[in-house]
Amino acid sequence: MAKNIQAIRGMNDYLPKDTALLQRIEGTLKKVLEGYGYSEIRLPIVEQTPLFKRAIGEVTDIVEKEMYTFDDRNGDSLTLRPEGTAGCVRAGIEHGLLYHQEQRLWYIGPMFRYERPQKGRYRQFHQLGAEVFGLHGPDVDAELILLTARWWKALGIAEHVKLELNSIGSLEARANYRNALVGFIEQHVDVLDEDCRCRMYRNPLRLLDSKNPDVQAMLNDAPRLSEYLDEASRAHFTGLCELLAQAGIPYTINERLVRGLDYYNHTVFEWVTTNLGAQCTVCAGGRYDSLVEQLGGRAVPAVGFAMGLERLVLLVQALNPDFTAPPTIDVYLISSGAGAQVAAMQLAERVRDALPQLKLMTNYGGGNFKKQITRADKWGARVALILGENEVAALQVVVKDLRSGEQETLAQSETATRLAQMLS
Ligand code: ATP
Ligand code: MG
Repeated sequence: MAKNIQAIRGMNDYLPKDTALLQRIEGTLKKVLEGYGYSEIRLPIVEQTPLFKRAIGEVTDIVEKEMYTFDDRNGDSLTLRPEGTAGCVRAGIEHGLLYHQEQRLWYIGPMFRYERPQKGRYRQFHQLGAEVFGLHGPDVDAELILLTARWWKALGIAEHVKLELNSIGSLEARANYRNALVGFIEQHVDVLDEDCRCRMYRNPLRLLDSKNPDVQAMLNDAPRLSEYLDEASRAHFTGLCELLAQAGIPYTINERLVRGLDYYNHTVFEWVTTNLGAQCTVCAGGRYDSLVEQLGGRAVPAVGFAMGLERLVLLVQALNPDFTAPPTIDVYLISSGAGAQVAAMQLAERVRDALPQLKLMTNYGGGNFKKQITRADKWGARVALILGENEVAALQVVVKDLRSGEQETLAQSETATRLAQMLS
């Protein structure tokens, strides 16, 4: 017998039992985005490799070791997108959406990174991201944070995610800080692990979020990024902190938060949780005022974030069981006997015409009435509609309330009106 072919490690199937919850969560997230006036943008999953190298930066985990890159039949180097911002900026420039305009955009979809799969970390995962272009003030940064805070409330997990903030300043301020930091690290090279040694000149700020405790301890005495911030960066950051305080959003300033990607400046933020083990960041973002220009557009300020949907789902499952209740239907249509098949289909379609919101499922595959009622219960139906030979002949239907057990016989033409009363 042939060997079964299995899914690729770290790339998951989402089965009906999972998709119901996913749709519910996504529906909640989209409603909030709409409420803030954000519009969806849909982008290709594959882009030219240089786009990611230029946007994300060569000395990053993603570009160094996580991208799925391949040559297509023309010999062009293509990459499965590891994140959404680069493609969004590429599309914005290509379609003239960015210059002299304001855009509030969101996207959702699969991202691909070659990582070691574990809980909350996969090779195909999904992000919902938002990007705002053309606005430079801290008020937009605050809006994005308020929007995400509203998500957590709507999903019932607000108590379990915490906001961490930092400012990484302007490119210039960071360059000055970089020199001071490298100078300090050079005196402590013995503490560095292999990874940090590779990075200390190429991307020294990444040492700040190293997970190595010895490196973290050594950095306690290092120069602080906040001392190197220029006036404009300081004002932007103070502005943001004030807006968040006014809005009642608690936060902590984490001076070691620098984010993995090169393109950020000014604000960086993460929503973190202690409920997901090592995979503690649910949502991460920041300002990236130089990226549009770096990718060939005219300079446009921008800020955005990306949220990992799988981590969010794990949190909601763990913390808000109400939200994860399986979906149910309203009405289950049962039929048996001569002419019942046609009559059932006609009745179902007529009821759907009258009540488009109703969730009505028709029994197929036969079975006696008792068996069909069991199926109705399995789907959590409130009401069963029953068509036997007598009802079909008399153009009637039996309407059974599956909670109280009461039933009545009606003309088929009255079905929708009666259902609307019972389910209101
Ligand atoms: P981490 O430090 O966990 O590797 P990251 O800094 O690489 O995260 P970002 O590139 O900022 O992550 O992506 C934003 C969000 O996307 C993360 O906070 C997380 O929720 C989610 N995410 C990133 N990588 C993965 C992955 N491999 N599997 C599942 N979710 C992921
Ligand atoms: Mg990562």
